[in-house]
Amino acid sequence: DSRWFAVRVAPLGTHGLVLVLAEDLTELRRVESIRRDFAANVSHELKTPVGALLLLAETIEGAADDEEAVRRFSGRMQLEAARLSSLVQDLITLSHVQGDEPLARDRPVALDEVVADAVDRCRMRAESRSIELAAGPTEGIRVRGDEELLVTALRNLVDNAVAYSPEGTRVAISVRRSDDEFVELSVTDQGIGIPERELERIFERFYRVDPARSRQTGGTGLGLAIVKHVATKHGGEVIVWSREGSGSTFTLRLPLLPEDPRVTENPVQEA
Ligand code: ADP
Repeated sequence: DSRWFAVRVAPLGTHGLVLVLAEDLTELRRVESIRRDFAANVSHELKTPVGALLLLAETIEGAADDEEAVRRFSGRMQLEAARLSSLVQDLITLSHVQGDEPLARDRPVALDEVVADAVDRCRMRAESRSIELAAGPTEGIRVRGDEELLVTALRNLVDNAVAYSPEGTRVAISVRRSDDEFVELSVTDQGIGIPERELERIFERFYRVDPARSRQTGGTGLGLAIVKHVATKHGGEVIVWSREGSGSTFTLRLPLLPEDPRVTENPVQEA
């Protein structure tokens, strides 16, 4: 790996002294190249559904007399449009959570609401695949943060658990206090699992173990990147355990809201 420097030479006063400033540009170049790769990936991901929509629109035009064909192609158009819409939504969410700014909304959040909301939003998909969603008790545990973002993160984990599991299996959501400071929100599936060598990369934007399978399930490839950033922004982390062929557990580890009486007396102000 070569390092890159910008060198600046400036004359100092009248005694012929020069000041040499060397600035390490390696990191800057790395960030720049990641940004370029991301833009290229986004363009590519957008091109696929847009191209499909164009083609389908043309096909429908040519098949206007064939009612059955029109129905079939417009169904596929809706599917591609839905894919485009979730990609754009995920890009917006990601841009909100990957910056350094503090959370816009930061107040006490009850985990039972987060779990109930996330489970609700995944229920239809789970039912359509005969997958049982089982949520354990949350024991009134609260954290601090943005409820909507926490629901989004948990929903992404449950969605993945459903998408990467065979029909008729079970997805369990559990909450437990891990020590005095942290709570662990876990999603366990009996799905296909993730090969060990891939575990490090699955949190990268657009990284997929099996791109064909991800597309087939309507995945955007951004879900786990969003989960990781939501966890970090809340002062926590996300941990994955997985065995190929037998299932995975994704755990959101978040700081507990201290059970300090002063916290309840002085409710956190909304931003
Ligand atoms: P996607 O939209 O493709 O699901 P994610 O960022 O949510 O994107 O996940 C990245 C990749 O990690 C997925 O494409 C899949 O290969 C793998 N993955 C995520 N969750 C699971 C899971 N519960 N079981 C097996 N593989 C998973």
